[in-house]
Formats: sequence, structure tokens, C-alpha cells
Amino acid sequence: MRTLASYVYGEWVEGQGEGAVLVNPATEEALAVTGSDGIDFAAAAAHGRETGGPALRAMNFEERAEMMKAMSESLHAHRDELLGLGVANGGNTRSDAKFDVDGATGTLAAYASLGRGLGDKKIMLAGEGVQLGRSARYWGQHILTPREGVAVLINAFNFPAWGWAEKAACSLLAGVPVIVKPATSTALLTFRMVEILVSDAVLPEGALQYISGSAGDLLSHLTEQDVVAFTGSAKTGRIIRGHENLLARSVKVNVEADSLNSAVLAPGLDPDGDTARLFVREIVKEMTQKAGQKCTAVRRILVPSDDLDRVRDEIAQALSAIRIGDTVNGDVRMGPLATSNQLRDAHEGIAALAAEGEIVVGGMDPVGDGKGYFVRPTLLLNSDPAAAREVHVREVFGPVATIMPYDGTPAAAADLVRRGAGSLVAAIYGDDVTFMGDLVAGLAPWNGRLYLGSRKVADMAVGSGAAMPLLKHGGPGRAGGGAELGGLSGLRLYQQRTALQGDRGLLNKLLGG
Ligand code: NAP
Repeated sequence: MRTLASYVYGEWVEGQGEGAVLVNPATEEALAVTGSDGIDFAAAAAHGRETGGPALRAMNFEERAEMMKAMSESLHAHRDELLGLGVANGGNTRSDAKFDVDGATGTLAAYASLGRGLGDKKIMLAGEGVQLGRSARYWGQHILTPREGVAVLINAFNFPAWGWAEKAACSLLAGVPVIVKPATSTALLTFRMVEILVSDAVLPEGALQYISGSAGDLLSHLTEQDVVAFTGSAKTGRIIRGHENLLARSVKVNVEADSLNSAVLAPGLDPDGDTARLFVREIVKEMTQKAGQKCTAVRRILVPSDDLDRVRDEIAQALSAIRIGDTVNGDVRMGPLATSNQLRDAHEGIAALAAEGEIVVGGMDPVGDGKGYFVRPTLLLNSDPAAAREVHVREVFGPVATIMPYDGTPAAAADLVRRGAGSLVAAIYGDDVTFMGDLVAGLAPWNGRLYLGSRKVADMAVGSGAAMPLLKHGGPGRAGGGAELGGLSGLRLYQQRTALQGDRGLLNKLLGG
């Protein structure tokens, strides 16, 4: 069986001891073994800071952009192989794997393009300059410079390609080296991506390191200029946020955690119109893409009471038609969950949601011969969402969502959405400007992104689950309070913002104004 090594301090290092076994979740066949025992995490952090950091900071934005374009091209040249690894180790359909792998190369390319726009500079300006005294000669300007540390990128199992690439795109363009730490269970794809990039030598030494297996004591070796960008469960997020060394040294930490995303259907829509059709189509896609293992997947579906029965039946019918199985078979539309633990958690979650509602379609019956970590697309109904609890607090990380009635007013919909205590995204489907406006105002403080599905964009809509490089990804409260992507603002996590004050002429010369 293949052993996945880590790439640290300029060499490939295999972990000591037994290690964890990575499997194919459709067949439970063992694919690889990996572990990080014995790795000198302090040396890895130092290597990033002392070798990777200076090399990246010596480059201007254009040069870093070229490097990222080369990364994107290098990975894209191996696209088929990478998609195959997503299928084998992630249980992805080919289309799921494309979402992840093309999302990774596309985001690197998008940031390369943003970097080119910054030209040959090494310092970014933050906002406009300001006059500080009576004369315009005394001037102030905020600037952004790369932190002189290393960025530790810890990711969840569901996006082994895009997950680290979207973080690395921001960090590397900002000029900060990265240590990539994917979830162990699906690390095969990330491992291969790093192997390709190391072999093609598209980054300076020290700019990209990779840990296969647990993060060990890495966080205890981070210092004041370092960054931790974490994506995963709220539970692990709390552990990292409360890490003693990170607190003591004010290490910057960004947390992207779980989220109970909602989709709201406006009242009074023609059931056969483009907007109502879009709603049903996208709900089904968001529930089943990557077998519902997306932080942005829709978990709570709010439908006006008058439309509830019809919409419930339409979604249930579409879900029943989805073919589940080993995704090496081309006609399969949904694969398994990634691990046996995820399957157990999903079953527990469905049971908890069913205890305060009812299963409309799907449920916990085994699929096929019981081999593999499959769960059926499951729609639940909760008829009294204002009195319910579980549906607003329990994220079932699988193809599972609950449909609920509301009275058709923006106020009632907003009240229910807010019970999720902060989400990555909420989708509103409607064509009435007043309804949309009221709901946008009610939902914006509680969501990182609002997706507005309407007749005019029905033919170009990408679905609420796709995080866009130019738009912010991250939500308040339960979603972790983080912010990633969002164009150049995504670099902020990796930069120090400093106020400069002095002679305007001197500032202009220093900053090339
Ligand atoms: P997880 O168990 O919290 O693990 C996430 C990552 O943290 C893994 O790489 C894991 O490594 C690592 N980790 C665990 N304990 C750690 C510790 N004490 N110190 C440092 N690293 C540690 O989450 P998951 O099961 O992989 O992912 C599912 C969750 O992620 C869901 O709740 C989902 O909503 C969330 N998610 C959120 C977003 C978002 O953008 N907001 C995106 C995707 C997923 P090991 O695998 O080696 O244990």
C-alpha cells in the first residue's frame, strides 16, 4: 500500500509508527497509509519563516501572480489524474471532483489575475490617504505588508483540493508561505497536488510545505507573525481558537466552521415559472452535490405554507430519482459519505431531526449490499419550525435537509433563518423587489453571503453552494466568524495593516503615488 509522506523542510518525510489508513468510501478498500509522527514541527514552521517568507517577500505582486498562474497550470495539466483521486478517496462523482479540483485551479488563476492588477509593487494601500493637519502636507495612509510568519492552513475532509488552494491563493499572493494540513481521511488528493507542485518546482523553496496526518504540536510552535486559517467542525474550531500558545502570542486565527444554511422561497410565485423551477432544481443540487458534504449546502428550506405540499412533493420526487452508488459507474449521480464516522454522524443526525419532524423521503435504510458509507438523499418535514430546536442547531453533514412552512412574510422567514445563529450563506428565491429587499435587510447581519435567485438570472445561476473567489466566504456566529476570499480583501488575514503618518511628499515617494 502507498505511504503518503509529508513535505517539510525541503524534503519528503514519512511519519513513524502505524499511521492512519485512507480508504475508498464506496468499497472500503484501503488506498494509502499516512501519519506525521516524528516530524519536527518547530523546524517546519522555522523553514517556512526563514526560507519561504524571504523568497516570497522578495517578489512583487506580478511575480507572485506568475507563480500562482504556474501553479494553476501545473495542476490543471494533471486534471484527469486528480479527478480520479477525488473519486477514489472522496467518493466523489466526476462532477463533484471537478467542483473541487477546478475550484482549486480556478481560484489560483483568479488570484493570479488580481495579483497582475497590482503590478510591480510589494506594498498594498488600504483605502484612501487622509489629511491630518491644517495643511495637506501632513498626511496619513494605511498600508498592508506581508506578515513575516508562516500560514498554517488546516482543512476539512470535504474539499481536499479547493479547501487549501483558496487559502493558499490569498496567502501566497500576500507573500506569506504556507503549511498545508488537509484532513487525514481524504488527504490523497492534496498529497498528489503538492507532489506535482514540488516536482514542477513552481514555488520557491519553503513557500509550500505539507503535512500528511495530524498537526501534532505545530500550533505550539507558532509565533506572533504566524497565521492559522482553519476550516472544519465548530468543535475543533473552539479548540484551536482557545489554544494557549495562539492566545498568548496573538497569532491570527480565522475559523470557518459548520453552518445551517437556508433557502427561502418567496410567496406568490408561478409554480411553473423560472424562479420556482430554479428553486427546486437548486435545492436538489445543493442537497446531493458531494453527497451534501459541503459547508454551504442548504440544510433548512423555508416555503410559504400555501406552497408547502407541492414543493415538498417536487423535491421528494427529484431526490427519489437520484441514482446512488460507486461513482466509478458513470450513471451514478451521488456517491457515499467520506468515512464511516461521517455515516454514523449522519444517521444520528437524521434520527434527531426525525424525532421532531418526519422523514418525507430517504432515511437510514442501508443502500445496496451495505458496503460503503452510503446515505440516501433525505428530505424531512418540520411543520412547526418556530417551536423546533434540532433543525436550527444540528448540521447533518450529508444529503439531508428539512423543509418547513412559514407565513410568507419576510419577518417570519428572517426569524427562522436567524435561529441558525449565523451562517455562511442564505438563498432567497423571488422576483418581488420589496420582499427581497426586506429579507436582505433581515438576513444580511446573520449571513456571510446572500444568494438571490430570480427570473432574470435563472439561466446563469451557479447555485448558492459555490463560493466565489471575488466574493467573501465566511459567516458570523456559528459559522465561525471568519472571512476568506472576497477578492483582494482575502489577503488581509495574511497582512499587517499599518498606519503611516508624515510628510505627504515622502509618503508618495515611498509608496510610488
Ligand atoms: P474536523 O474534524 O474539525 O477536522 C478539520 C481539520 O482539523 C482536519 O484537518 C483535522 O485533522 C484538523 N484537526 C482536528 N483536531 C485538531 C487539533 N486539535 N489541532 C489542529 N488541527 C486539528 O472537521 P471535518 O470532519 O474534517 O470537517 C467537517 C466540518 O467542516 C463540517 O462541520 C463542515 O461544516 C465544516 N466545513 C466548513 C467549511 C467552511 O468553509 N465554513 C468548509 C468545509 C467544511 P485530522 O483529519 O488529521 O483529524
